[in-house]
Amino acid sequence: MSAKLLEGGPIAEQIKSEIKAAIAELPEEQRPQLVAVMVGDNPGARSYAKMQRKACEEVDILYELKEFDESISEADLIGEMNQLNEDDGVNGIILQMPVPQHINARAVQAEIAPVKDVDGVNPANLGAVVMGRVEGAPCTAQAVVRLVEETGVDLYGAEVVVVGHSEIVGKPVALLLLDKFATTTVCHIGTSDAGMLEKHTTGADLLIVAVGVPGLIKGNMIKPGATVIDVGINRVKDPETGKSKMVGDVAFDEAVEVAGIITPVPGGVGPVTPAMLLQSTLHAAQSQR
Ligand code: NAD
Repeated sequence: MSAKLLEGGPIAEQIKSEIKAAIAELPEEQRPQLVAVMVGDNPGARSYAKMQRKACEEVDILYELKEFDESISEADLIGEMNQLNEDDGVNGIILQMPVPQHINARAVQAEIAPVKDVDGVNPANLGAVVMGRVEGAPCTAQAVVRLVEETGVDLYGAEVVVVGHSEIVGKPVALLLLDKFATTTVCHIGTSDAGMLEKHTTGADLLIVAVGVPGLIKGNMIKPGATVIDVGINRVKDPETGKSKMVGDVAFDEAVEVAGIITPVPGGVGPVTPAMLLQSTLHAAQSQR
């Protein structure tokens, strides 16, 4: 059996075209604006910012990258965040990660006004996830939920296993699917160390993997016909070409023979995540009016 591919590209395009249409209806002065705050010069953060700018331009959201020297103190950075909170022209704020070690990212993220926190990092928004509020959730968690919805799988009573318990993916995804009456199990490094990972994953109708270990989930760890969402992004050396390539946390070649539906890496969750950031920015702008 070969699984059906669940590709994120067309879903992301659909989301973006809906956002663009909604923004086209707005007067120019109500065009949403997203501000990304970057401290220092990290190549990962810079390339993420470039991607954000391109995505914003596609749907006519205004985008500004505010850069600060890596010597900025935490207190001054919080001061900058507070100014952005008070600026009526700014609808969404995102703190690019990583930040220098002397800055406590959590403390700064907690200062982003919940209505402008489009990346779902403020404890108030993460707390609302407990109540099933998907709009304020981190963008990757929203992307996973959107992909699951696209499959049409019946979540009521389904066995869902989430591997990875990060604040931006595993935990919020598990809570949001729990809210849809799935029987949700969360696995993590402790599960693996106890030798129990496979026991859980093989029982999953829906398996979501967000770990950061290439090929962690082998074909024999997947229930035949299951839906598999692979959030992992890992760079590995291709043994044939010797070049670097991107792979997920699921051993795709094996998994595709067992699963019913599977997301590819790249091209699965990846394209949907920035689309959800745009959607969050539009929602933020609408709720601030
Ligand atoms: P993280 O690094 O914060 O946490 C990793 C999680 O995996 C933890 O819960 C840890 O306990 C668990 N873990 C580690 N080794 C394990 C093992 N051997 N067995 C079982 N569990 C194990 O995770 P994150 O920030 O959610 O990122 C996870 C992956 O998702 C990374 O590859 C990251 O690049 C990717 N990611 C992708 C997107 C996207 O848009 N596609 C967005 C964010 C993160």
